Amino acid sequence: MPRRALRTRSRKRKKVRTPGGRLAIHYFDERPGAPSCGLCGKPLHGIRVEKPSKTSKSERTVSRAYGGTVCASCLREALVDAAYNLWTVQETQKNES
Ligand SMILES: [Zn+2]
Repeated sequence: MPRRALRTRSRKRKKVRTPGGRLAIHYFDERPGAPSCGLCGKPLHGIRVEKPSKTSKSERTVSRAYGGTVCASCLREALVDAAYNLWTVQETQKNES
């Protein structure tokens, strides 16, 4: 039986074949994957890969609108699109009047 601290389902297990042919179980803490962009799915830069409870707010985000959720290139594209749509609406309103 493993020692008391390892007897929990929050620890992941992995069966490892030792050089002597014995099957040993290795216990380890699960680590989260890198956070990714909500639009393109690429991993985000400047964000620490750790459980959210173990990191401060500044380590989980980037000081930008949608920082920590959307990557910089996707945000730029979206903002340019939004500005263009706004501009075209204004132009059509000018032409109508
Ligand atoms: Zn993106």
